Amino acid sequence: MPQIHWIIFSQNLLCIYPQNDVYTLPSCIQHLSLTEYVNDAVTLHEDPQQIVKMLDLQQDTLTDPNHQLVSLRDVMMTGINLDFQHIARAWQYAQFLRTHQYCGQCGSSTRQVQWEMARHCDVCHHRTYPRVSPCIIVAIHNGQQILLAQGNRHITPPMFSTLAGFVESGESLEQAVHREVEEEVGVKLKNIQYFGSQAWPFPHQLMVGFTAEYAGGEIAVDGKEILAADWFSPDELPNIPSSVSISRDLIDYTCAKLRQNS
Ligand SMILES: [Zn+2]
Repeated sequence: MPQIHWIIFSQNLLCIYPQNDVYTLPSCIQHLSLTEYVNDAVTLHEDPQQIVKMLDLQQDTLTDPNHQLVSLRDVMMTGINLDFQHIARAWQYAQFLRTHQYCGQCGSSTRQVQWEMARHCDVCHHRTYPRVSPCIIVAIHNGQQILLAQGNRHITPPMFSTLAGFVESGESLEQAVHREVEEEVGVKLKNIQYFGSQAWPFPHQLMVGFTAEYAGGEIAVDGKEILAADWFSPDELPNIPSSVSISRDLIDYTCAKLRQNS
C-alpha cells in the first residue's frame, strides 16, 4: 500500500505534526474535520510507494488540537518526512489555483485540466499554467576573495549573500547575470559558468546559479536593493545564508576553490 501524505495549507501555513526533530505530514484527514473540503483536494503525485495530496483551506482554520501550522521557510530549515520538492510544488500550485479561477483573456470561469497542471477556459480556449519565474544567482570571485552583498531585507541580523535577480523578458540567463551585477554593485564579469539550480517557492522562483570572475570596476552599491557589498576572504566570512539555499552552496563551492588556489 502506498503511503499517503497530505499537504494542507491553512492561512498560508503548512499543517504538520511535530515528531522528534522532523516535521510529519498528516497521513489521513478523517480526524481533521475536513469532509466539506474533500472535493477540493488535488492529487499531485502518485507512485507505488507514495501518494501526495494537496488541500488549500486558504484563510479557513483547522480545529484539530494536535497539529501545528508552520511556514514553508521553517519547513525548509527543520526538515519534513517528504521530499521538499513536493511541498514547493504544492505551494506554487495552490497559489496558481487561487489566482486563476477566471480567464485572463475573456473573464469567464476556468476549469481544471485533468491530465496536466493547468486551467482552461472553454469560452475562448485560453489555457494557463503555474508560473515559474527564472532568477539568476551568482558567486563572484577575484582569485583571492568572494564578493558578498547585504540586501535590503537582511538588515537585522545583518547577512551577506551572493547577488541575485529576476530574468527580464527577452533576456538570456548570461545577459541577466551581467545586468543584475552591474546594476547592484557596478562591477564587470567574465568567465560565467553554470553551477546548478534550485526551485525556491517564495513564491515561484527557479534560482539558476552561476559562478563568475571579476573583470573590472569599483564596487558601487545601488543603495536600494543592495545596502553594502565587499570582498571577503574565505576564512573571514560575515554572517551568510543557511545550508538549505543555493546561495550557501555557491559560497561554499567558491570559497573551497579559493582555498585550494591560495
Ligand atoms: Zn477565456
